[in-house]
Amino acid sequence: MEQDIPTISAWQCIRRFACRYLRPFTGSFTVVQLMHLAGGLLLLLPPLLIRSVIDDAIDGDNVRLLVLQVSLIAGIFALWALISSIKEYWGHSIAQRLTVRVRNDLYGHFQKLSMSFHDNKKTGELLARIIDDINVVQEVIHHGPETIIIGLAMIGGTAGLMLYLDWRLALVGMAVMPVLAIFSRKIVKRMWREFRNERKQLASLSEEVEENLTGIHIIKAFVREGEESASTALANEKHRRSRMRIIKYVSLLFPGAMLINGAGMAAVLLVGGWRTIQGDMTVGTLTAFVFLLRGFLEPLMRVMMFAEQGGRFVAGVGRFFEYMDIEPEIQDRPGALELETVEGEVRFEDVHFRYDEEIILAGINFTAPPGAMIALVGPSGSGKTTITRLIPRFYEPYMGNVLIDGTDVRDITQHSLRKYIGMVMQDDFLFSGSIAENISYGRPDASGEAVMEAARMANADQFVENMPGGYETQIGKRGVKLSEGQRQRISIARALLKKPRILLLDEATSSVDSETEALIKQAVERLRAGRTTFVIAHRLSTILEADEILFVDSGRITERGTHSELMALDGQYARFYRIQFSEMHAI
Ligand code: ADP
Repeated sequence: MEQDIPTISAWQCIRRFACRYLRPFTGSFTVVQLMHLAGGLLLLLPPLLIRSVIDDAIDGDNVRLLVLQVSLIAGIFALWALISSIKEYWGHSIAQRLTVRVRNDLYGHFQKLSMSFHDNKKTGELLARIIDDINVVQEVIHHGPETIIIGLAMIGGTAGLMLYLDWRLALVGMAVMPVLAIFSRKIVKRMWREFRNERKQLASLSEEVEENLTGIHIIKAFVREGEESASTALANEKHRRSRMRIIKYVSLLFPGAMLINGAGMAAVLLVGGWRTIQGDMTVGTLTAFVFLLRGFLEPLMRVMMFAEQGGRFVAGVGRFFEYMDIEPEIQDRPGALELETVEGEVRFEDVHFRYDEEIILAGINFTAPPGAMIALVGPSGSGKTTITRLIPRFYEPYMGNVLIDGTDVRDITQHSLRKYIGMVMQDDFLFSGSIAENISYGRPDASGEAVMEAARMANADQFVENMPGGYETQIGKRGVKLSEGQRQRISIARALLKKPRILLLDEATSSVDSETEALIKQAVERLRAGRTTFVIAHRLSTILEADEILFVDSGRITERGTHSELMALDGQYARFYRIQFSEMHAI
């Protein structure tokens, strides 16, 4: 699944991200960075003042100087607190605004991607990516530059000050730096790698859970709870192992760094203490060194901690761009036609299609005149649904043409094409929300009367009006609070309100009581009246009324004609009909 995505280097990720999302905030972002710098540099001053407190004020018995210098130290901390508080708030607010843009872009992009993309990706994985990646990005946007700027300012400033105070002792103190750097680099590198791995494990875990919860009815019905729990437990365990490897690195990194730094501190105290005894150095300078050395370790540790997040950031941004870089397979051509009106003629010219390798449709030819009803009949898996998916250009044939009123669908904007096409599929998706919102999904601006009229035409008005909240009744996730027959009529009402010219209909096979069945049948008849209709027919009455029946077998139209013509032919259709319908009654 991953191999179809180009991998982007870390540097490219950061540069692209900055150009695309940081640019609008350049001014305020820069000010926040300057505040980071000022905050970092301010913290270098107290050790110098402490030195003077000890050497000048205490040693010189100068109380006035003591009070002055301590006040100065207190003032510096107050100023630092003020700057930190402002930059914290401001920096996070920039990160938040930026994140909203990132999220919207990514979500918008996913919507644009073609059906073939969505066929191959699992919702759990997508969700984990969107939510998780972007949370990390948001954290790093603010804390990343903060850590680096404060870190560099403090490490550079501390080194400079130490060298200024006593260059020999400074060299002793800094001797541990290369050891620390090599040690942390080794561990952090492995940690980065493991972070990528951990996130993959997490994605597959949430995928597993998402699938389980979606299919919970089936799991319970087939008493497979045990097996499903076991497979989730396995994914969970894999994630734990990966997480534990990260924890192992973290447990090594910080104590290890502290140990190395402690060794540096001991060396400074030993050498500095000896030199102070010798009278080569003042107590104040030695104290300043101890404080400065602590100021050395802290930013270094922060930089190392950031490396942890930095790894996740690069991984997150990398994946973000990998997805953003996927071009929708189906795009509007430059200068594509905006359909103004549609008569409703649909023509397939030698259409060949495949989803993956296997050829699903081969040499499909037919013309459906405006207003005609075409029944697609044939064994399951023969390609009937696929034919209907090519009309709204959800997929594209690799050979041949699909034409609406003589215009190739590839020359029409997808938006205007789909505006004229209505769909009622089996088990159609309803959104959580009210009944009115679901009916007006294709025309959100429709008036209340129009919604009610559509419901009436779809024979849905009675049950809706009997509900406690009427049209405002919330139907739950995917419409779980409605019965099968009610859901079907809501989806018919939704299609009716859209007033499409071309209708794609997959007759429901699920059994509803005969009264509801009759209501649905009447609703469908009203829906298809005067529209070019393709119906994947499961009802005998539909087939009998069809202007033309296309018998689809293994991706080819093997027979075509009206019911009586095909029965007279006594071929595949007649055989199929006898098996399927001989014992059924037309409703
Ligand atoms: P029918 O509607 O006649 O039952 P379909 O058009 O749904 O048949 O399916 C035709 C063939 O295409 C089947 O073999 C099916 O497995 C395959 N197929 C359907 N949808 C997809 C898809 N999204 N990706 C890959 N193969 C698919």
